[in-house]
Amino acid sequence: MLRRRTALVTGAARGIGRAVAEKLAESGFSVAVNYNTSEKEALQLVEKLQSRGINSIAVQADVSDYREVMRLYEQCHAYFGFIDTLVNNAGICSSKILCDCTPADYERTLNVNLRSVFNTCRLFSPDMVSEGFGRIVNIASVWGERGASAETLYSTSKAGIIGFTKALNAELAPSNVIVNCVSPGFIDTAMNASLSPGEVEEFLSGVSLGRAGTAEEVADAVELLTREKLYIAGADIPVNGGML
Ligand code: NAP
Repeated sequence: MLRRRTALVTGAARGIGRAVAEKLAESGFSVAVNYNTSEKEALQLVEKLQSRGINSIAVQADVSDYREVMRLYEQCHAYFGFIDTLVNNAGICSSKILCDCTPADYERTLNVNLRSVFNTCRLFSPDMVSEGFGRIVNIASVWGERGASAETLYSTSKAGIIGFTKALNAELAPSNVIVNCVSPGFIDTAMNASLSPGEVEEFLSGVSLGRAGTAEEVADAVELLTREKLYIAGADIPVNGGML
C-alpha cells in the first residue's frame, strides 16, 4: 500500500542526522527535525526543505530526557498526526580511558546514546503498532560491534543499541513495525573533528576503501531501511568502508 510517509530524525540539524533528514525528504517524506542545541541550523534546514515543498518542522528536545520526548511526541502528533518512521541518530562520543571516567560521564553517555532510543521507541512505536506499519532505524557504531580502547562508555552505549534493536524488532516486526540499526565506521563529521591527522591516518589504514565515509553514505543505508517493501529486519548494517 502506498502511503504518505512522515519521519522524525533525532539530532537532525547537522552531521549524519541532517543528511538523513535531507535524504528522506528527497524520497518524499515529510520530516520532523529534532535538535537539542543547534537551533539556527535546524531552522535553516526546515526553511530549505519547505522551499522545496516538503512539509517539515523543527522541534527542540533533549532526547535523553523522557519528559522532553513526551513533549516532542505531542508536538509531532499535533502537527503531522502519525509518524511512521523514526530515525534515532542523536549521539555524543566520550573518549577517555576507563579510570578517568566518572559516574557522571557514564550517566551522560548512556542517557544520550541509549536511554534516548528507549524514550523515543517507547513513545512513538505504539502508534506504529496500532497503524500496522512502522520503520525504526537506530544509529549504532562499529565500536558497538567491536569495542574500542578509550571508548568504553561509548562502545557500551552503542552495543546496547544493537541489542535493543534486535529485541525490539522481535517484539514489533509481527505488527509490521521493522527495527534495524546501522553501524557507521569513520564518518567525516564534527564528531571526529578533534582527531589529529595522524590519528585519522592510523584509523583509515584499517579501512579497506582507504577513506572516511560521508554522512550522505550513511543516509543512503538508512533510507534503504525505511522502505515499505523490506525484508531486512532486526539487522545491524555496517557502513564502514570494509574495516579490516
Ligand atoms: P555530530 O555531528 O556530533 O552530531 C551529533 C548530533 O546529535 C547533533 O545533531 C546533536 O544535536 C545531536 N544530539 C546530541 N545530544 C543530543 C540530545 N541530548 N538530544 C538531541 N540531540 C542530541 O555527530 P555525527 O557524526 O553526525 O553522529 C550522529 C550519530 O552517528 C551519533 O549517534 C554517533 O554516535 C553516530 N556515529 C558517528 C560516527 C562518525 O564517525 N561520525 C561513527 C559511528 C557512529 P544538537 O547539535 O542540536 O545539540
